[in-house]
Amino acid sequence: MTQQSMSETYTKPLPKIDSLTRPYWDHAKKHELSVQRCTACGDCHFPPGPVCPVCLSDDQEWQVVSGRGTLVSWGKFHKAYWSGFADELPYNVCLVRLEEGPLIVSNFREDGGPPPKVGMEVRAVFDDVTEEVSLVRFTSA
Ligand SMILES: [Zn+2]
Repeated sequence: MTQQSMSETYTKPLPKIDSLTRPYWDHAKKHELSVQRCTACGDCHFPPGPVCPVCLSDDQEWQVVSGRGTLVSWGKFHKAYWSGFADELPYNVCLVRLEEGPLIVSNFREDGGPPPKVGMEVRAVFDDVTEEVSLVRFTSA
């Protein structure tokens, strides 16, 4: 499928990729989850920013992380805030604490496994939604 036709068939919002977030999306395309890491103090954070939220250094790098984490919270969305989600209602939105520290908001995929439960161990999986964009989801580890 060409990029154009994939983008046309994908009706949900897509990220605006810029110079700050490009490394994240490049990793995601390879099905690697990455977070920004401060080379001055070592703090790992997500989402990325121009400076470290802990020490304000602008010396940041991208680190591929394990993709493993713990489900901190989750909820079912019953309302389609974007029309592209209408066919999937209700869908799971989750908050995951990565093993490396950062919190990340995503979707929980049951994939025939157990339903979401606070405290469960989860792992990252990726959905290739267009040629350019792969989105991280989480599922039971
Ligand atoms: Zn720092």
